[in-house]
Amino acid sequence: MKIAIDGHSSCGKSTLAKQIAKHFGFTYIDTGAMYRTIALFAMRNSMINPDGSPDVNRLQEKIGDISVTFLKDGHAALNCEDVEREIRTLEVSNNVSKIAALKFVREAMVDLQRQMAQNESVVMDGRDIGTVVFPDAELKIFVTADDEVRAKRRYDELTAKGEQVTFDEVLDNLRERDLLDTTREESPLRKADDAILLDNSFMTREEQFEVAKNFVNRTMQELGI
Ligand code: C5P
Repeated sequence: MKIAIDGHSSCGKSTLAKQIAKHFGFTYIDTGAMYRTIALFAMRNSMINPDGSPDVNRLQEKIGDISVTFLKDGHAALNCEDVEREIRTLEVSNNVSKIAALKFVREAMVDLQRQMAQNESVVMDGRDIGTVVFPDAELKIFVTADDEVRAKRRYDELTAKGEQVTFDEVLDNLRERDLLDTTREESPLRKADDAILLDNSFMTREEQFEVAKNFVNRTMQELGI
């Protein structure tokens, strides 16, 4: 069984996906972490131009040498190095969406995502899971929330980790990412026609999980699992 969780930036998709994975014993795959890892590689190797655009040719040359994996504890790894902490910074968030818009980057990551889900029940979160990666997923949830609510949650998370950021920087970043993600040519973020919309602006994590648990139980019942 495959569960696709898509939605806007910082809307709590990964929290929900992890809760579902733990409760139902599914494998969780964080596809955003994979694009963030590629962005980190580009940043470390001076592949970001002064105007903020990626150096497409150099990144394309190197894409075959980049290994993106998940370690046993779920942390993302770049060529076997644990980069979980680094990929969550605002600096990476500011660069990732332009890199995730590149066709060759998406093709490489989608291939990897499909391989990771072979022979496993997975819950995968991202932007294009229900539309492109697994259009045949048995359950699709599209998560969203008011952008100021999302920014406040992300701001609290980053400052709790000691990052020096302002609320406006966080809000600008997520608005910018939403814009890039929804307007790009390759696999733009959109709700699949058969996805269930879940707006969690006024829900706690626990309330959101209760709602989603009912979706999963109902789907399992329909499938006779
Ligand atoms: O999910 P997260 O916010 O960590 O994703 C980081 C970025 O990676 C997103 O803003 C988006 O540009 C890109 N992304 C994507 N497709 C996915 C997952 C993430 O384009 N399936």
